[in-house]
Amino acid sequence: MFDKILIANRGEIALRVVRAAREMGIKSVAVHSTADTDAMHVRMADESICIGPNPSSQSYLSIPAIISACEITGAQAIHPGYGFLSENATFVQALEDHGIIFIGPSAEHIRIMGDKITAKDTMKKLGVPCVPGSDGGVANVAEAKKVAKEIGYPVIIKATAGGGGRGMKVAQNEDELEVAFQTARSEAKAAFGNDECYMEKYLQRPRHIEVQVFGDGKGSAVHLGERDCSLQRRHQKVFEEAPGPVIDPKTRARIGKTCADAVAKIGYSGAGTIEFLFEDGEFYFIEMNTRLQVEHPVTEGIFGVDLVREQIRVAEGLPMSFGQDDLEVNGHAIEVRINAERLPNFSPCPGRITQYHAPGGLGVRMDSALYDGYSIPPYYDSLIGKLIVHGRDRPEALARLKRALSELIVDGVDTTIPLFHALLEEEDILTGNYSIHWLEKWLARTFGQ
Ligand code: ADP
Repeated sequence: MFDKILIANRGEIALRVVRAAREMGIKSVAVHSTADTDAMHVRMADESICIGPNPSSQSYLSIPAIISACEITGAQAIHPGYGFLSENATFVQALEDHGIIFIGPSAEHIRIMGDKITAKDTMKKLGVPCVPGSDGGVANVAEAKKVAKEIGYPVIIKATAGGGGRGMKVAQNEDELEVAFQTARSEAKAAFGNDECYMEKYLQRPRHIEVQVFGDGKGSAVHLGERDCSLQRRHQKVFEEAPGPVIDPKTRARIGKTCADAVAKIGYSGAGTIEFLFEDGEFYFIEMNTRLQVEHPVTEGIFGVDLVREQIRVAEGLPMSFGQDDLEVNGHAIEVRINAERLPNFSPCPGRITQYHAPGGLGVRMDSALYDGYSIPPYYDSLIGKLIVHGRDRPEALARLKRALSELIVDGVDTTIPLFHALLEEEDILTGNYSIHWLEKWLARTFGQ
């Protein structure tokens, strides 16, 4: 059993892990950059240690600094949160070499899933359905044209090292292909230092459906249903819900079992998410995230489990505290991402919070590291909070979300709160009738972008 764990992250997710650890009687160590000296996760953890200057490259992404912090404080394990080093196989390998436990999967599984071509290949072999596309990397424009002819236009060119919605380009026809291919490659090189790209058929109106899986690292795994994260801007999620409005229990059980069996077969350990596009009743694998997702609370809401607690247990070598038969969907949950951003362009809006009031009441959860007088530093992600609601069914969850949003006050900076007030007036949102392109079209209509 762990006495003390270190959290290699910041913001709401660091706080989320501090809370789970405390409930388990485990002490927590917060790490922080100089910009985050006054951050909430630093105040809430049992201990804290400064690991470097403001830029994340010299603090939250510094492997030597984080390992030193672990050695100085005597933490036995590290929870990486999401982002930063959470899917960095080199980091996990370094921890293994130093005898520090990583609360997450093995370096090998992270490596396999971090390379999207290898991930797709692995999933295909494990019986998971994939988007039609190139067989591995595409070397040049001539080859790209050949692949596009086979799978049919439109096509999407994606970076094998991609993430965060970057390095993706769509070509509607052969005329657009050359520019799209070259742009995707140069963007991939600049963003990820690796210009290898692959191609897929570009689906016209799919939904983004992702399946939460959990493995014990010993060959057993379960699934915790799906989340629908189709409401996206520039391939970034803004609103997530579980269960998916268009997924029935039979479909859930079928795709869930496929995913659980796949991760069980590779001996996967801890939380993971298998992402699909879903169109005309078919699932198409796009990637697997080998970490906790931002939107994990909606799954926690409908299954009544604490996924972080479970991650810690499995890392300790304990069995999972639930089996597949214990997991039953209960009601409906929705999460909206509160970002410090200015509409309509979503430009980052750091600054001082002059007033903060979190909503409350039945079925309302606010995961945020904000407080009155806090200054949001300009160096990191603009996510400042997640409002999660749970109701007995989707209409109740929507009504609760509207009510909770009306109580939420974040003054001093611009936020995405007005976006959600507006979305909750839309018939398509109320009926669940949206695809991954819905939000971009709505934004264009509403703001003339
Ligand atoms: P990232 O790792 O950068 O998040 P993903 O492969 O998960 O990239 O894709 C992110 C989003 O891009 C998806 O949720 C979807 O909106 C869009 N997308 C990806 N592949 C396709 C495709 N083949 N057809 C249509 N949209 C796609």
